[in-house]
Amino acid sequence: MTLTADQTAVDQGRRLVTELPGPRSRELMARKSVAVAGGVGTTMPVFAARAAGGIVVDVDGNHLIDLGSGIAVTTVGNSAPRVVDAVQEQVAAFTHTCFMVTPYEGYVAVAEALNRVTPGDHEKRSALFNSGAEAVENAVKIARAATGRDAVAVFDHAYHGRTNLTMAMTAKVMPYKRGFGPFAGEVYRAPVSYPFRDAGPDGALDGAAAARRALDLLDKQVGADQLAALVIEPIQGEGGFIEPAPGFLPALAQWCHEHGVVFVADEVQTGFARTGDWFACDREGVVPDLIVTAKGIAGGLPLSAVTGRAELMDAAHAGGLGGTYGGNPLACAAALAAIETIEAEGLLGRAREVEALMTRRLRALQERDPRIGDLRGRGAMIAVELVRPGTTEPDADLAKAVATAAHRDGVIVLTCGTYSNVLRFLPPLSISDALLEDALDVLDTAFASVPGKAR
Ligand SMILES: *Cc1c(COP(=O)(O)O)cnc(C)c1O
Repeated sequence: MTLTADQTAVDQGRRLVTELPGPRSRELMARKSVAVAGGVGTTMPVFAARAAGGIVVDVDGNHLIDLGSGIAVTTVGNSAPRVVDAVQEQVAAFTHTCFMVTPYEGYVAVAEALNRVTPGDHEKRSALFNSGAEAVENAVKIARAATGRDAVAVFDHAYHGRTNLTMAMTAKVMPYKRGFGPFAGEVYRAPVSYPFRDAGPDGALDGAAAARRALDLLDKQVGADQLAALVIEPIQGEGGFIEPAPGFLPALAQWCHEHGVVFVADEVQTGFARTGDWFACDREGVVPDLIVTAKGIAGGLPLSAVTGRAELMDAAHAGGLGGTYGGNPLACAAALAAIETIEAEGLLGRAREVEALMTRRLRALQERDPRIGDLRGRGAMIAVELVRPGTTEPDADLAKAVATAAHRDGVIVLTCGTYSNVLRFLPPLSISDALLEDALDVLDTAFASVPGKAR
């Protein structure tokens, strides 16, 4: 007997039947602490049992509202019906042959789909991998092979992963880098456009000026002719949901084009309908040479990809790209089903509705609470940056206290940011308006419950 998504359907309401964490979760956490490496942390001490729509059910039967999507992964929903059906069919047919040994259609179909939905209508190729970090590394390999150059430009507040090369590309030392070096060489960091923190006496730096600042440094300190690639998240994720000023990304892309530098968009977090477009680059019509995708690509199964200009993608020699599991058939079946779900259910539009609801509620909260210094983001990728009122001084303690209060009341929220002072919201697009409103009520209460600091 196969379980269909309907049979596992989860009641869509927040409901707490124990304190959090409940007894089963506490038991499992005790087992975790002696079985799992201490370096693997958890945001909440609550173990999941089932999930669907906008709800995660824990092992004690508590129904939690999901504003995290497992870090922007289950954009089409947890156990989305098309994904479940496709994976069940594939798992019964075959689980693995290795695409590099005996290839299969699913991989090719995913490559075709990626070539179709990613920005630009030039001729493209795709290659599939397992994780976001692995795909970022492969984008750099491809750019180096195509240009014959070594250097890679990245930005302040960037997050690109936890492997050796991507640790070097990631900005924040704790928790991602401390004690894990030495790091890969030939990685250079430039200032990003961060409108909330770029404001000077003359107002915020506009996108073109912020791009000039970054490109001038790269030109003088690295040399455009040394750069294989410039890698950027069009909206920075872990770094704090930082959306650059308009014009920043187009100016970078133009400079790359003029200097033969491969422009790589890391859309691991922003991709696949998350921001209300297929990809965040779409909003300003920026066409990256290579685009890196993962997270939301396959409804929760591990898959990532590099997609880009055919002449660049074909520059690496045969056998130079790949891996045992890259483009696993189950993950490919899931990706095709996730892409079909985005199209059939109009999820780009749904992400924009989520944006409208969340920004309306959060703006009202910001008007009451001056500790919310900035409200930003796009689609179902929204954040508030918390500060001492009237300043831009980060308030990480407040972010932690509000998140903890929300967790206690059954809402999964994540923090992020270089200064750990950003609350970020990444609901699955399968969440109902009623659940979103309830989660925002909980956040209102959570903010009210944390007293302001005397200053
Ligand atoms: C999460 C993330 C990565 C790394 O992806 P993994 O699958 O965790 O390796 C890379 N880039 C961005 C922008 C991310 O958000």
